[in-house]
Amino acid sequence: MSSTNYRRKQQRICLRLAKIEKYIKIELKVRKMAAMEFDDNEPVFTIGVAARKLNIAVPTMRMYEKAGLIIPFRNESGRRIYSFADLKRISYIRRLIKSEGLNLAGIRRLMALLPCWELKPCSTELREKCPAYRDCKTICWMFPATACKVDERSCRTCSVYLDSCDTTDNLKQILKKTKY
Ligand code: SF4
Repeated sequence: MSSTNYRRKQQRICLRLAKIEKYIKIELKVRKMAAMEFDDNEPVFTIGVAARKLNIAVPTMRMYEKAGLIIPFRNESGRRIYSFADLKRISYIRRLIKSEGLNLAGIRRLMALLPCWELKPCSTELREKCPAYRDCKTICWMFPATACKVDERSCRTCSVYLDSCDTTDNLKQILKKTKY
């Protein structure tokens, strides 16, 4: 083999190796991104962006909050920030309104039926003192104080609040499992 041919062959091999190296790097990057944990509850969207994504008006978002159906995160300056989970929650509320004909008061009454003392669960002693255990018209996180509420916004991270869309949809199944 002439020296020119030999050099060309070497160049081709080098090019192929560079392509393989590039491919491996991309593949590793994709795998790393796929392995990264994504937190659905992380507040990331301002109210304007969240409203745009949901294709609804900002005042509607505020109305759901006023009705007690959503507790947005507030940053240090008091701005509302929404997570993916919040967006899913608002879509669920929209579905109940649009497809099932409920109004905000109806959704509130439905969520007020969630047996939070069973879902948490709370001790017999605690539940006896808790207004959410006695009242069936108010959602537990709307009481100014309950046996488990730490402060105004702490319910946002409570499993009873976070799972309330699923549990509301499966209320009968949940009640069947309890002794009530
Ligand atoms: S912490 Fe809040 S949302 Fe959770 S059960 Fe208590 S009142 Fe309800």
